[in-house]
Amino acid sequence: MYIVALTGGIGSGKSEASRLFANLGVPVVDTDVIAHQLTAAGSTVLEEINQTFGADFFNPDGTLNRAKLRTHIFNDANERVKLERLLHPAIYNKALDTLQDNQQRLQPIYQLLVVPLLFESNRYQSIVNQTLVIDCDESLQISRAMRRSNLTANEVKKLMLAQTSRKNRCSLADTIIDNNGTVSELAEKINEFHKKLINTCIVSK
Ligand code: ADP
Repeated sequence: MYIVALTGGIGSGKSEASRLFANLGVPVVDTDVIAHQLTAAGSTVLEEINQTFGADFFNPDGTLNRAKLRTHIFNDANERVKLERLLHPAIYNKALDTLQDNQQRLQPIYQLLVVPLLFESNRYQSIVNQTLVIDCDESLQISRAMRRSNLTANEVKKLMLAQTSRKNRCSLADTIIDNNGTVSELAEKINEFHKKLINTCIVSK
């Protein structure tokens, strides 16, 4: 199994890049998507969240009030740690299971594992073969994230401060793909990365 871990700051274009990799036929495992699935109605994790944080964080229909929980943990580091202890191991295990399942079913040359906080946690680094950072100027990160998520510039800046710095992230990357241009320019760069990696993997097999 060969795993490329994709990361980047908020609004840098991780989702856009993942979509482009998926279009090339690369299996994509996204830890944010898994986090969402694990907190969907009726899940075991949701029950644990209920027991730990209480019914106040649930909507009348029993679904998780994500916005309320997000604000709560953003303002209280201890509460954030509590949620992370509950969620992160479950996300990791599910990601690993999905990667292994993809490998057996599809036998891909490589898979893409999307981990927004790859360099902030040391959970994933031992299972990935190389790291890829999607990067753009901070002003673009802010304007793109504002438009996508209907946030103010200050809200985006606050989220950026909770992540490692752009400089640190780029210094840790094996490869950096610049996303300051258009989506088709990003697609071209991803095609190029994909072709090179496939050739390397085939040659080294
Ligand atoms: P991330 O997943 O890293 O937070 P997204 O991939 O969701 O970021 O990108 C943030 C927003 O910017 C999305 O609405 C996306 O469609 C848009 N976007 C991403 N890359 C580009 C680009 N090169 N040009 C214009 N818009 C882009």
